[in-house]
Amino acid sequence: RSEETQTEDYLFKIVLIGDSAVGKSNLLARFARDEFYPNSKSTIGVEFQTQKLDINGKEVKAQIWDTAGQERFRAVTSAYYRGAVGALLVYDISRRLTFENIGRWLNELQTHSDMNVVTILVGNKSDLKDAREVTTAEGKSLAEAQGLFFIETSALDSSNVAVAFQTVVKEIYNILS
Ligand code: GDP
Ligand code: MG
Repeated sequence: RSEETQTEDYLFKIVLIGDSAVGKSNLLARFARDEFYPNSKSTIGVEFQTQKLDINGKEVKAQIWDTAGQERFRAVTSAYYRGAVGALLVYDISRRLTFENIGRWLNELQTHSDMNVVTILVGNKSDLKDAREVTTAEGKSLAEAQGLFFIETSALDSSNVAVAFQTVVKEIYNILS
């Protein structure tokens, strides 16, 4: 890489939101460290993790924020959202209530963010096929209605985890560059 390209620095703040126990911390652990915690407690969450991505040959840094369990008390602060340009809005495909709460999270995101945040709706735990309570079509349809990207992931078996983060970062990059 040339000196010139190295001087171009991109750092995008991305927030993970959604109900407690949908797998936010494990999506980040899988993406950033290729780890999974079968019995994770909310305390495993670090404040944020910075991850380098290659977008069209450019190095882009994503600063990915995870909650420390505040979502359990609906107490995610505005500081958490401040400056975010991307969001992963996560539900658990095996718990319908977490999907029904997506509208509230979207409201909260729009209330707290000062710009149009690139958002992907993420149906996590796609490995739990027998316990599925939300169909892929329902997820897709909600995403379309709200103008969001959509993907189903599994932090457990790694499926689509990197794609979920890359989709958001790529779109932010395209808008801002
Ligand atoms: P958070 O509260 O949203 O951060 O959720 P966690 O990442 O702490 O995960 C909550 C529970 O769901 C933990 O027991 C995880 O091991 C489990 N979990 C997370 N992602 C997946 C997944 O993709 N598949 C399955 N089967 N379990 C998952
Ligand atoms: Mg967590």
